[in-house]
Amino acid sequence: MERVFGEGERVGVLTTEPLGRVLDYRAPEGGCGMGDFVEVPLGPRRVLGVVWGPGEGSFDMAKLRPVGRVLDARPMRAELRAFLTRAADYTLTPLAAMLRLATRTPGLGEAASTRRIYRMVGPAPNKLTDARLRVIEALRDFGGAAVTLGELCEAAACTASVVKGLVKIGVVAEKDAPRDLPYPPLNPAGGARLMGDQVAAGDALVAAVAQGGYGTTLLKGVTGSGKTEVYLEAVAECLRMGRQALVLLPEIALTAEFLTRVEARFGARPAEWHSGVTQTERRRLWKMVGQGQAQMVVGARSALFLPFQNLGLIVVDEEHDTSYKQEEGVLYNARDMAVLRAAICGCQVVLASATPSLESWVNADQGKYTRLELGARYGTAELPEMRAIDMRAQKLAANCWISDPLARAVEARRKLGEQSLLFLNRRGFAPVTLCRACGAQVGCDHCDARMVEHRFLKRLVCHQCGATKPVPTACPSCGVEGKMAPVGPGVERLAEEVAARFPEAKLAVLSSDLFGSARALKQQIELIAAGGAEIIIGTQIVAKGHNFPLLTLVGVIDADLGLQGSDLRAAERTFQLMRQVAGRAGRTGERRGLALLQTFQPEHPVIRAILGGDEEAFWRAEAAERRAAGVPPFGRMAGVILSGPDVAQVFEFGAELARRDGPLQRIGAQLYGPAPAPIARVRGRHRVRLLIKADKAAAIQPAIAAWLAQLKPPANLRIAVDIDPQSF
Ligand code: ADP
Ligand code: ZN
Repeated sequence: MERVFGEGERVGVLTTEPLGRVLDYRAPEGGCGMGDFVEVPLGPRRVLGVVWGPGEGSFDMAKLRPVGRVLDARPMRAELRAFLTRAADYTLTPLAAMLRLATRTPGLGEAASTRRIYRMVGPAPNKLTDARLRVIEALRDFGGAAVTLGELCEAAACTASVVKGLVKIGVVAEKDAPRDLPYPPLNPAGGARLMGDQVAAGDALVAAVAQGGYGTTLLKGVTGSGKTEVYLEAVAECLRMGRQALVLLPEIALTAEFLTRVEARFGARPAEWHSGVTQTERRRLWKMVGQGQAQMVVGARSALFLPFQNLGLIVVDEEHDTSYKQEEGVLYNARDMAVLRAAICGCQVVLASATPSLESWVNADQGKYTRLELGARYGTAELPEMRAIDMRAQKLAANCWISDPLARAVEARRKLGEQSLLFLNRRGFAPVTLCRACGAQVGCDHCDARMVEHRFLKRLVCHQCGATKPVPTACPSCGVEGKMAPVGPGVERLAEEVAARFPEAKLAVLSSDLFGSARALKQQIELIAAGGAEIIIGTQIVAKGHNFPLLTLVGVIDADLGLQGSDLRAAERTFQLMRQVAGRAGRTGERRGLALLQTFQPEHPVIRAILGGDEEAFWRAEAAERRAAGVPPFGRMAGVILSGPDVAQVFEFGAELARRDGPLQRIGAQLYGPAPAPIARVRGRHRVRLLIKADKAAAIQPAIAAWLAQLKPPANLRIAVDIDPQSF
């Protein structure tokens, strides 16, 4: 039972303010309980907070201010509070920032009975104050949908009185919000009859869910082997037991197809959670999850912070995907946080992938995770045949990237009415714009990144910060006119080559930056799935889980691309990406797929592993290399990024930190740097990185906290701690 505090008792309330911490208040009339949403006075304002504990007791009781009122009783359960606390400790994030992640949904403090919704009804008068104009524009942006007062005020950056003023003159209508509708029940009966390896895997997962308690399973199986079918059986068991299930997907664009599939399996749509879902819907979901009414949630990584009442299973699909790592704000890896939450609430985790991360592979190898494997594709579908095209033997014309063998294969597929995918992991037209007179390249004015030409936008774009500028006619460096030239291929340029080589073919380019919205992307994907394109040209975005039944050929334009650079994860990432892309071919089983990899180094161990070498041997070799280097998953690592406008000042602060490395030395950690961060300048801020490496058993978080606490950074300098960085 959660502790309850009587009126006047001392309580600790954690506010959701940016620099919030637990502050003492007096319990209000009627008392309050742990986990309640409350409104508390903070200076002259009233802010949202959560009752977090009995209070510290250092502050004079007589001077304590009372809690304003209880907004919602106990939505933040002990289990969720414990998760947020542990996640904050692990990622070295202030607890209030963690609470903000969990409470970002607008309108959480508003009781359903008092919620009003707003919409435009009358014509806007000609003369309006700026604030009123913003409200009207915000309502237009919402496209006529009704919104709550909180949403409207936030979107228009105004106070409630501005909206009320518009209601008074009859431009905006106000009415009571309809009651939240419950989600339709999901029916666990039915489902596919599992076959072969699937039977044992399904039985094991169902048994684990039925038994309850914490456990993590790595479900490994090639694309199309039925991993989804298998873990949906575990979800079904969860539903039968009256427990909730959460399925995380790495990409919003994958949800539509997945939801349709779940609906076909369970007879109703599950709840959906990601940034593309309306705020009203998100608030409803938040409430329903908290009441245990939403049985299954399909969502993005932030769904981990929902107030589940009775979680039985978390599935992390495509667990190796790098987009599970949040790289801005609170830096966390959703896969690791899923395991943490499951350990705290006592539920099962399934990590599903055709190409697991090395971390998960090692954890399974060491027996920390259970390993289940699906050997073959379901039914008659076979894995694609994989072959290298040795580019050293190919003669290509200038500015051409498609070899003759690849072109012939594409032509053959076209004749059969099948689709080909040409994969190039480079957005835009050309990665480099170079002056043929002096050799200078065009860089971003705000970052240490080269500008990438985008013909579609007719501009140069910085992929780091999004800044754009026109393609210069004269060299910015030497001033010579007419010598600026694009160098190297991007997908847009590849599309030009394809159009020239196959003038009759229907093309589709699938690159994240060509689509303004998730909706447009979804339409393009549906078009391809329905056979509306013969040749698909795509970046990374096509590698993720999409099912294109007519696709039988995958051509990788530059299989060596990811192998450059010194990152210790390069081999793992390349292996995963190539296998995922190749896995798009021949999924239906009527015709075998073929994957052709253009490479200048066909003997490279990674290329050979991709082409069907001994996969276990590849992982063992990778693991041995990491072990020798003492890096994750065999050692602990953290990056500390310092950033500021003045490069000398940032370096100086980094050097001063490095001199005071006592707290790190005490745990036997090694410190590297300060050195320029992998991206040394972003949006005009210079970035310097310090890397910390320690034994697996070392407690690095408290040591880093103590180390950083020694020095107060200058006002304009920012510090971000990245536990388990993606690149090292
Ligand atoms: P994965 O998640 O490993 O890529 P899926 O679960 O999507 O594989 O299965 C691939 C295809 O095979 C899907 O269309 C799925 O419905 C079908 N399939 C897999 N297993 C079965 C089964 N036991 N019975 C019927 N269809 C199945
Ligand atoms: Zn930039």
